[in-house]
Amino acid sequence: MNWKVEPVLKYQCILGEGPVWDPTNARLLWVDILNGEIHQWFPNNGIHKTFKAEQYIGAVALTNSKEVIAACQKGFYKINLESKVMSPIFNPESQLPNNRFNDGKCDPAGRFLAGTMSMSNVPQAGKLYALEADHSVRVKIDQVTCSNGMAWSADSRTFYYIDTGLREVAAFDYNLKEGSLHNKKVIISIPREEGIPDGMTIDRDGMLWVALWNGGKVNRYDPKTGKLLLQIALPVSLVTSCTFGGRDLTDLYITSASTGLNERDLEKQPLAGSLFVIKNCGFQGFPPHLFSG
Ligand code: CA
Repeated sequence: MNWKVEPVLKYQCILGEGPVWDPTNARLLWVDILNGEIHQWFPNNGIHKTFKAEQYIGAVALTNSKEVIAACQKGFYKINLESKVMSPIFNPESQLPNNRFNDGKCDPAGRFLAGTMSMSNVPQAGKLYALEADHSVRVKIDQVTCSNGMAWSADSRTFYYIDTGLREVAAFDYNLKEGSLHNKKVIISIPREEGIPDGMTIDRDGMLWVALWNGGKVNRYDPKTGKLLLQIALPVSLVTSCTFGGRDLTDLYITSASTGLNERDLEKQPLAGSLFVIKNCGFQGFPPHLFSG
């Protein structure tokens, strides 16, 4: 299959990540973790806005108000992208200054799940947390190496999760009322030559789209069988995450990174760090869940 992968705008992120489509404002949000930036792209008028924080930003999620919720180097924040005010909520790892938050996403009940990782690659030094509506924080998974992609099945009963350090996609039984997860099953193991699994989204057929870091592609899998259904090749090696956006949620947005690439690499992949889109990709996603607090 020939995919028409287009760069969205000329902007090279160090570590572009965590794309979120906002249907209310017809905008795509994503972060550049290592630049500490939140980006907004309005495809209807071509406006690009950048918010800069003085720390790493692992992920953002939408709320019911104008603010976004963010998982940063120093914990959870609410951020007003217009007034540029960052309001701290809680840092569950204030005792671990060598850790930072990485990927995050809201569950269908409006909890914000986000996980941490060691900035010096210490294995199993991170955790997956849930920020509840009342701003309490609970540990969901302990001993995570690099907390990354998340997705929920349409019936909310299954939580899909990637700890990149394990090179696998796992499925847990999810109790939406309690926000608890049980019964881990490894559903997809990714061979080293494919790259390593990073961000993830789910489509309306219940299939998983996994970005492959150092693999230069996005793979679509059937979570029931683990079967690889299709692959989308990108013109860059460090593919980080993807989500569906656009009016009908049929445009696939894909983020990428340029961190660690040398001059020769960048000559070969000048678009490294860009945001890409495949318009009308033939598949449809879900709107994102909003933070309820
Ligand atoms: Ca990631």
